Amino acid sequence: MRIHLSRPHLSGHEMLSVSDAFASNFIAPVGPQIDQFEAEVQEYLGSELHCVCLSSGSASLHIALRLAGVGPGDEVWVSSMTFAGGVFPVNYLGAKPRFFDLSTKSWTIETTRVADELTKAAKHNRLPKAIVPTDLYGQSVDLDSLESVAAQYDVPLIVDSAESLGATYKNGRKAGSGGDASILSFNGNKIITTSGGGMLVTRHRNWAEEARFLATQARDPAPHYEHSTYGYNYRLSNVCAAIGLAQMKVLDSRVTRRREIFSRYRDALTIPGITFMPEPAGFRSTRWLTAMTIDPSEIGVGREDVRRMLLENEIESRPLWKPMHMQPLYAGSPYHGEGVDEMLFSQGLCLPSGSDMTDGEQDEVIGRIRRFLKK
Ligand SMILES: *Cc1c(COP(=O)(O)O)cnc(C)c1O
Repeated sequence: MRIHLSRPHLSGHEMLSVSDAFASNFIAPVGPQIDQFEAEVQEYLGSELHCVCLSSGSASLHIALRLAGVGPGDEVWVSSMTFAGGVFPVNYLGAKPRFFDLSTKSWTIETTRVADELTKAAKHNRLPKAIVPTDLYGQSVDLDSLESVAAQYDVPLIVDSAESLGATYKNGRKAGSGGDASILSFNGNKIITTSGGGMLVTRHRNWAEEARFLATQARDPAPHYEHSTYGYNYRLSNVCAAIGLAQMKVLDSRVTRRREIFSRYRDALTIPGITFMPEPAGFRSTRWLTAMTIDPSEIGVGREDVRRMLLENEIESRPLWKPMHMQPLYAGSPYHGEGVDEMLFSQGLCLPSGSDMTDGEQDEVIGRIRRFLKK
């Protein structure tokens, strides 16, 4: 049987929760399950926050950028090493991304580099309309330093927490609670899923209100359809919210399991030339995917050799995200960094990490890799 990278992992409560939604006939993007799902995520992340269920993580970022005032010709500064859905919404609004490298200590965006570039940009009156750092593979960005730098220049900070729901930053502060807004994803491969979905989490009440307005076709108060701006059909289905409610019950155990999987890989594969994603002191990542690098000069084989060997044995693994500044779409876009992300891409591999993976399956992956590296 094939071993997958990260599959949807149901709790067993989903059908019951969905049948509640069916019984009340709330098969729509409104309903009690939506309200309750928002309330539960809010309770989890912090009572000072406002939560708005949306149809995907990308839709949530699109709305957040719109709320930040991003428009044609503007710049948005983003982590280069991320998933496309964390950058494409910049294009939806006719804006342009400027890409930033990672820190070797955390594999998340290097704040000092962002700060230096903000100083320069302020001098030339070309500050970005928003900064969007990514909580890579479930690890929170350095929220304190990014929030203070963004505030210093009055630039909205939108944290891409699509992979990090359930993680904590220093002092137990939860990932997903940062910046002016954070975005979550409930896609099938994430920590918890609604089959597809997302959420905007914001500390600004007016952002949450405006997000609900924009996500439901921007209808002005009137008995007929009246519009003074354009909106989107981006609200989450109430049926999907019901799935999310059942998944919230198991969020913490899903994170515990993913972390356990990470530790088992690290303990079994601590071999010169293999390096696992670091976790700064005090941080607790979701370890959404176990990410490691394979240094061919030390091991004699490269990432692709290992990936292909695993694939031949029905085991799915994947290179780390290809940095966006290396993508054909973004050729020629400005990039600030030293190529830490480029190195991580050329050497990095994500191992099967789904919370439903058994120890036996993981041992199979570990055994294959160990035997392959010894030959
Ligand atoms: C999954 C993901 C997204 C997009 O979320 P969708 O719900 O799939 O639209 C954005 N950014 C990152 C970093 C992601 O991993």
